[in-house]
Amino acid sequence: MKRIAVVGASLAGVRAAQELRAQGYDGGVVLIGEEQHLPYDRPPLSKAFLAGTASAASLELLDAGDLASLALDFRLGVRATSLDPSERRVWLSDGGSVHADGVVIATGGRARTLPGFESAFVLRTLDDAVALRAALVPGVRVAIVGAGFIGAEVASTCRSLGLDVVVLEALPAPLAPVLGPELAAVCARLHADHGTDLRCGVGVSGMSEAGVHLADGSLVPADVVVTGVGMTPATDWLAGSGLTVSNGVCVDAGLVTELPQVVAVGDVARYGGRRHEHWTNASEQAPVAVANLLAGRTSRTYTPSGYVWSDQYSGTLQLAGHPRPDDSLSFVDGDPSSSSFVAVWQRDGSTVGVFALNNAKLFNRLRRPLRQPAVV
Ligand SMILES: Cc1cc2nc3c(=O)[nH]c(=O)nc-3n(C[C@H](O)[C@H](O)[C@H](O)COP(=O)(O)OP(=O)(O)OC[C@H]3O[C@@H](n4cnc5c(N)ncnc54)[C@H](O)[C@@H]3O)c2cc1C
Repeated sequence: MKRIAVVGASLAGVRAAQELRAQGYDGGVVLIGEEQHLPYDRPPLSKAFLAGTASAASLELLDAGDLASLALDFRLGVRATSLDPSERRVWLSDGGSVHADGVVIATGGRARTLPGFESAFVLRTLDDAVALRAALVPGVRVAIVGAGFIGAEVASTCRSLGLDVVVLEALPAPLAPVLGPELAAVCARLHADHGTDLRCGVGVSGMSEAGVHLADGSLVPADVVVTGVGMTPATDWLAGSGLTVSNGVCVDAGLVTELPQVVAVGDVARYGGRRHEHWTNASEQAPVAVANLLAGRTSRTYTPSGYVWSDQYSGTLQLAGHPRPDDSLSFVDGDPSSSSFVAVWQRDGSTVGVFALNNAKLFNRLRRPLRQPAVV
């Protein structure tokens, strides 16, 4: 292969570019990114960067040494608009195109928006974080729609800035489908303990300058409204490519699409029927996807660890594995009312998931032997 195009210049794309070099590929690597910025890390956007304690420069994924050794051909500030596999060409929003023998799709996703909340802040990109940070001036009242990981972290950061925060969640408890009711109650407690007004089971109908309007007609007064309601995979540019796209780019167990010269990694890749929107997943897929791309076939398969962490208030939450609602949960250290505990999910006598609040040491020990699901 003379040239490989990596589309999406964020974590998964950067890891793929690094892995191409690590696996001995010495052809051209073109890294195409819609954002103007050099690749940066997103997790601090809702934490230290939003709090004003980390700079944009500290988020960069590649330092000067990496940039020199990787010898990447950056095309930043341009969007890939289509992929023509028969011509082996990626078309760009500036009218240009890149001829590539191989393509890594790493376009992640965009913040989902809610009807009636078009003028709300969202948090996906550095530009989003800069805009939100500027709005978080002393005295503003913040309303956050959605108590998932991003919503909870934004609430936590806003509280650390001394702001009044209301979180509006449609579910009966935050993160209940992921964590189950007992651990979801722990997340709710974290909000309450730190002065966030969490309201669950509420519907929202829209926003105005006065705040957020609820489905029952009442108003939650707010000066700053943030929606944290998930993301939509960025696959629009693949229309007409012939690739199967359905809530992500569908790939096999080796992250290869139906075309052996096209692989997908990160938040946009859908394998085994699902996508994972977590940092570790986006980072760990590159070695497998790149090996298969260079081999021209699926020679290795990817095993997801299902690891995610989240920093909320005084707590670091860690989750590994793929627990299901019918798995049995037990506490192996501490209990849900304490500030530090570890819980495991079991199925048929095996541990299938581990969750910890402020106990990384035991968490890491227990997650090692986790039974991994087969990717079909
Ligand atoms: C605020 C925030 C906090 C987070 N915190 C955590 C955390 O604490 N723990 C955790 O496990 N995970 C966290 N995550 C999730 C983690 O950051 C993501 O899983 C990771 O960024 C996914 O990387 P990616 O490269 O697959 O996709 P993305 O990071 O979404 O990057 C995709 C890139 O592709 C670009 N792109 C899209 N379409 C095109 C196109 N057509 N042409 C060119 N470029 C395109 C986009 O502009 C973007 O730069 C957080 C995410 C956010 C947003």
